[in-house]
Amino acid sequence: MAHRRSEQRPVTGQDDQVGALLREGRHRLAPGATAALDSEVLLARVLEVDRPWLFANRESGVAAEAAAEFRDLIRRRGRGEPVAYLTGLREFWSMPLRVTPDVLIPRPETELLVEAALEFIPRDCACRAADLGTGSGAVALAIARERPLCEVHATEHSAAALEVARENIAALAAGRVILHLGSWLEPLSGRFRVIVSNPPYVAEDDPHLQEGDCRFEPREALTPGPDGLEAIREIARATLRCLDDGGVLAFEHGFDQGVHARALLAELGYLNVETRRDLEGRERVTLGRRPR
Ligand code: GLN
Repeated sequence: MAHRRSEQRPVTGQDDQVGALLREGRHRLAPGATAALDSEVLLARVLEVDRPWLFANRESGVAAEAAAEFRDLIRRRGRGEPVAYLTGLREFWSMPLRVTPDVLIPRPETELLVEAALEFIPRDCACRAADLGTGSGAVALAIARERPLCEVHATEHSAAALEVARENIAALAAGRVILHLGSWLEPLSGRFRVIVSNPPYVAEDDPHLQEGDCRFEPREALTPGPDGLEAIREIARATLRCLDDGGVLAFEHGFDQGVHARALLAELGYLNVETRRDLEGRERVTLGRRPR
């Protein structure tokens, strides 16, 4: 693949080379653990090429305008801005999702929530599922892609986030996802086979909120209040009457919230309450079934 700036000659005649720019980016981001990777991802994005192209073309010249754009991204990355916001892209469930600072950046561990939901959605018959607080639409889109007969209703109370989800749905056109503006279950009617959510669950005073990508993400997508369980309580209560008989609620939570999540669901009358662990072995998703 040739990069798009190849015909634009820099005014000075002194092209920066791909390899030199990567080195420069890496040095500026050092000692960050992902300095080399970030530098590659950002240059690949500016040149609209993939990373392997960079390694095969280390000696290629980069036009001045593209080099300046790259240096600006490196400067912003150096101040901590998430790579996903700088590129506007994050992969989830093998789908390239558009992300902006209006939405939480999809995390790999959230794929566990999708896997759990899919277990309870039959492949061969039509049913309804709901994703509460969909953000970029990541979870709803993954479910819809795997279960084309399932109608997935996704709610989101931020209009700006809903716009991002709308773009992702239009771009990926996988299955049926219907968007609703509003909080949790409020804009929905009828019953659902499965209801999922990756709600905000980080306690307000958790120092984690002052670190890494979290500093740039919408606060309301990360923390629901003082103890971190406020949104989960609200969702678990409201969901019980919106599930089909035998229908399942599955939600993501913090690694130390499993015990609270199970107690809450049991107290509300859910059956078969269980918690799944993520790839790092941490309790991450709790499920419960509405009695038949
Ligand atoms: N897992 C995210 C984090 O720890 C939080 C996501 C969420 O609150 N839903 O940064």
